[in-house]
Amino acid sequence: MGGRLEGRIALVTGASRGIGYQIARQLAGEGAHVVALARTVGGLEELDDEIRSAGGSATLVPLDLSDMGGIDRLGGAIKERWGRLDVMVANAGLLGILSPIGHIEAKVFEKTMTVNVTATWRLIRSLDPLLRASDAGRAIVMSSGAAHSAKAYWSLYAATKAACEAMVRSWANETMNTQLRVNAVNPGATRTRMRAEAMPGEDPKTLPTAREVAAKIVPLAFPDVTETGKIFDVRENRFLTYQNPA
Ligand code: NDP
Repeated sequence: MGGRLEGRIALVTGASRGIGYQIARQLAGEGAHVVALARTVGGLEELDDEIRSAGGSATLVPLDLSDMGGIDRLGGAIKERWGRLDVMVANAGLLGILSPIGHIEAKVFEKTMTVNVTATWRLIRSLDPLLRASDAGRAIVMSSGAAHSAKAYWSLYAATKAACEAMVRSWANETMNTQLRVNAVNPGATRTRMRAEAMPGEDPKTLPTAREVAAKIVPLAFPDVTETGKIFDVRENRFLTYQNPA
């Protein structure tokens, strides 16, 4: 093996399926040791098999991201074992529910906020010192076009993604003078379980695969990235600079 991330340590959340699985696999293909996090052990084991049979290596972390203490302990374990983290991909997420805003159940609202927003903040808090300890720390936070589109019935999911983008932009300004680069990603509609849940009537074959989408995202983890505080739009294959809505 030999790649752009040889000897680097990369954490990927939501690595048991979909876009996160493919990002993890491809980061390992670039030589990174992947720390793969999700709840579903079967999906993580499948990923581990695939990475190993391609000559790579992974550490599996079966964790529910609503366990904030677990996120803090993960930071401690990475610090103890490697003393740094080179790449963080905060990819795990939930759709919650598509519903008129006044009909969303409090439990669903809170769970979606917890996994999509609070856990992302907690990961950042836990891992920021380790990413700063790398000579080329790269953070990628998964957003969505929903953060900006204000579509009817998407308020909950959209609010969580807008919150993630806001955290990324502030974090980028806080770390501008360090080696750390932090960006958000809009993967665009992708052939995964989440997309099928959101759009059950759609033919998945019309959408790009998670593997194709991941291939556009993985270069954001490379040491030569200079952009920070931006949104990378996969479909347009370029960084967007955030602009306040008119
Ligand atoms: P999937 O539903 O296919 O995968 C979601 C991943 O998140 C799974 O690995 C799941 O693992 C993990 N996850 C969910 N809840 C938790 C939890 N409580 N604790 C730990 N892990 C959790 O989604 P996609 O691959 O489609 O989405 C990946 C990211 O891309 C998401 O942030 C999504 O919002 C974003 N996105 C996706 C789009 C699409 O069209 N697919 C479009 C725009 C954005 P497990 O269940 O094993 O815990």
